[in-house]
Amino acid sequence: HSRAFDLTMDRTGFAERGEEVEDEIAISPIAHSVAPDLVDEIVYDALVWSSLHGLVVGDRRVEGSGIVPGVGLVHAPFSLLPMPFPKRYWRQASELAPIFNELVDRVSLDGKFLQDALSRTKQADAFTSRLLDIHSEMLEINKTEDIRLGLHRSDYMVDGETNLLLQIEFNTISSSFAGLSCLVSELHRNLLNHYGKNLGLDPRKVPGNTAVSRFAEAIAKAWNEYNNTSAVVTIVVQGEERNIDGKPVAVVYFRAGYTPNDYPSEAEWGARLLIEKSSAIKCPSISYHLVGTKKIQQELAKPNVLERFLDNSEDIAKLRKCFAGLWSLYDADAVKSAIEKPDLFVLKPQREGGGNNIYGDDLRKALIELQQKGTEELAAYILMQRIFPTASPAFLVREGVWFRENAISELGTYGAYLRSKDKVIINDQCGYLMRTKVSSSNEGGVAAGYAVLDSIYLT
Ligand code: ADP
Ligand code: MG
Ligand code: MG
Repeated sequence: HSRAFDLTMDRTGFAERGEEVEDEIAISPIAHSVAPDLVDEIVYDALVWSSLHGLVVGDRRVEGSGIVPGVGLVHAPFSLLPMPFPKRYWRQASELAPIFNELVDRVSLDGKFLQDALSRTKQADAFTSRLLDIHSEMLEINKTEDIRLGLHRSDYMVDGETNLLLQIEFNTISSSFAGLSCLVSELHRNLLNHYGKNLGLDPRKVPGNTAVSRFAEAIAKAWNEYNNTSAVVTIVVQGEERNIDGKPVAVVYFRAGYTPNDYPSEAEWGARLLIEKSSAIKCPSISYHLVGTKKIQQELAKPNVLERFLDNSEDIAKLRKCFAGLWSLYDADAVKSAIEKPDLFVLKPQREGGGNNIYGDDLRKALIELQQKGTEELAAYILMQRIFPTASPAFLVREGVWFRENAISELGTYGAYLRSKDKVIINDQCGYLMRTKVSSSNEGGVAAGYAVLDSIYLT
């Protein structure tokens, strides 16, 4: 290891040795010590690698992009070097994945819990209300799902104040970036193979990422359980695409359907209901989808709720340890604190895909307004403790240009779960997603334009 790297990996040690340091150096892990010429060179290689290996996304500025395959592609935004990340948090997040998978499955079977917990939200949020209608209809006809497939992603940040790995949210529908995150890990390993000596970095400390192949394997195994060799797998996507091929469908994977925009007319709701009624394995089923709402995240964090669903007290303790503060807006004390100190909270509606949360002064105003509007509206949101990860410099690359920024990261671990009646066929952690964003940005979506894709460097 070069000295520069060792220092940055151990900030406290650096300070204790009493060296003369500028602020910037003190918080610098990998990024500080790299000369701009070398950064240019590494970025060039990274861009070539991205083009050759498909670390690309559609470029909205190019006509035909997203319609004609192979037309209008640009490299996905990425962080040039993997973000240092302590091994113990990595282990903790990996260990949590199968426990959350199991929890989701158990909660999904308790239709009454889901309906009750979301009953007030139903009055306040039209989208959640439609999802609950489908769910009610399934309860009425006693619809059972013998084979259940979950492809999830649990997201975390390390809170700088408490040094705890805290969960941001749990995604049960369209858990994104399984494909690109694997490529970014590979890109980083590749760059460290070439430049690791210069940078004092060891490529073996970037954990391998198998999210995409493990997810594909889970879908294939679900298809296998369905046991009809002429059946197909349907992927529900955004846009005009419809799949009407007259073949039985073994597995329906929802890449779309998590946002109201995906249901522009009654036809889409009709299709969702039809799929739910069918014998196809849904990923996710309507109950898995509902378990992933922010409201259920908040309900599960209440005292004694996990105990309703899980027996193992060690598992329960592990889950609880990663729960941040979560409150309903009917909690007058929490709302009062949030109005007084809005920067310590995040206000979240029941939405997915990034860009929906409310922060800071907007949060304060929104809460005051909601209180004035009366009780019903409050149920559309939850309040969450704001997590403050420690920032460190990183090279963020967008559209071929690099920026050196003070950045914070969010780690997601993918989990696959496949169950047929009493037989658990898969329950695994199967890869990760690191997203890094400028520390001053509130939101974190990559597609939404706030964050870049990253991987981790175990320390
Ligand atoms: P979505 O389902 O839209 O992804 P999230 O709950 O993940 O909703 O919130 C979006 C982003 O907002 C996260 O990726 C993260 O960057 C930021 N965020 C969410 N909750 C918190 C929190 N409690 N503390 C700090 N940042 C948060
Ligand atoms: Mg989400
Ligand atoms: Mg999220």
